[in-house]
Amino acid sequence: MRPIGIIGGGQLARMLALAAHPLGLRCRVLDPSPAPPAAAVAEHVRAPFTDVGVLARFVAGVEMVTFELEHLPEEAIVALRDRIDPERRTERAALEALRIARDRFLEKRFLNSLGIDTADFMAVDDDDDVDAAVSRFGLPMILKTRSYGYDGRGQILVTSAGEARSAARRLGEGGLIAEALVSFDRELSIIAVRAQTGEVAMYAPSENHHRDGILRWSLAPAPAIGAPRRADAEAIARRIVAALDYVGVMTIELFQVADRLLVNEIAPRVHNSGHWTIEGADTSQFENHMRAILGLPLGSTSTHGGWVLFNLLGDSPDLHRALAVPGAHLHLYGKEPRPRRKVGHVTCPSQNPSADRARLQELLGLE
Ligand code: AMP
Repeated sequence: MRPIGIIGGGQLARMLALAAHPLGLRCRVLDPSPAPPAAAVAEHVRAPFTDVGVLARFVAGVEMVTFELEHLPEEAIVALRDRIDPERRTERAALEALRIARDRFLEKRFLNSLGIDTADFMAVDDDDDVDAAVSRFGLPMILKTRSYGYDGRGQILVTSAGEARSAARRLGEGGLIAEALVSFDRELSIIAVRAQTGEVAMYAPSENHHRDGILRWSLAPAPAIGAPRRADAEAIARRIVAALDYVGVMTIELFQVADRLLVNEIAPRVHNSGHWTIEGADTSQFENHMRAILGLPLGSTSTHGGWVLFNLLGDSPDLHRALAVPGAHLHLYGKEPRPRRKVGHVTCPSQNPSADRARLQELLGLE
């Protein structure tokens, strides 16, 4: 069998390739950087995502193409769609999911069309739209770029009418959206995996904590979520993957407001908030993604016990200290240290994740 092609060679591709290995699968990643994290465990083709010639050769040389990024340039999506046979439904559906998920306006409109709630939003293309958004949503409100925002980049919390227009200009030339600020009780995510047969399996939702827009830690299963809320999250995820005829792992990021769930974002890929599934579930999100796209049976998503997942930001921790924490599993991504950069994660078992989180963080020596 030819290798599985992954567009993007970051840590998600690295963990996909590591999960593929025991199944006898090889991976080939496309990534513009010289030594992306996945290059240590997969073949690396170095080229920009927009190089149409390279994309064509890449598609021709692999068994199938999958994705670890959601911010693929539109031209790359079009180039891939033109080169992937319409019969190859899994890849065509993934491209359509990416086309929607890469644009916050299309994404929210798609979700609302399925009857799924989101923050109130509107497209913002000029100063008049900015003024209209301020009067419609009140202050504070959030301005975001439609595409390429991640980890808190590409968005500004606007707190005064006077700064709204300049905030919009600072976000740049591309289209924007304005969103009403949701005063949520907490953030959750649910990871679904859909097989080619249409069967869907779900992981336990996790509760996610961000600082400066970056995921710091997740608790899984989300404490005290309760069966009705979990069923709501699952129903939302099922509706989304079915509407897109999507195959593979899809992540839905949610805001919980009292007993309601709003969707913030969808990520048609494996997700940071699901890294605990490597040790915490019968089958990891990475292995299940590979199984799904290849038409293999899905693995059990059952979870045993509770888990706390910490992201390692900026630099690696002291190995002696981190590995001395009972049960801690360390994953380093082989990245150079840089402020705010995700360089790895640690997963710790816990009978009571919310009660244990601060103590574990301290033991690991994390901020
Ligand atoms: P995003 O890039 O859209 O995922 O946003 C990053 C983070 O900003 C989210 O995880 C939330 O913590 C926060 N956020 C985004 N949109 C909203 C909103 N409409 N209301 C409140 N908080 C938000």
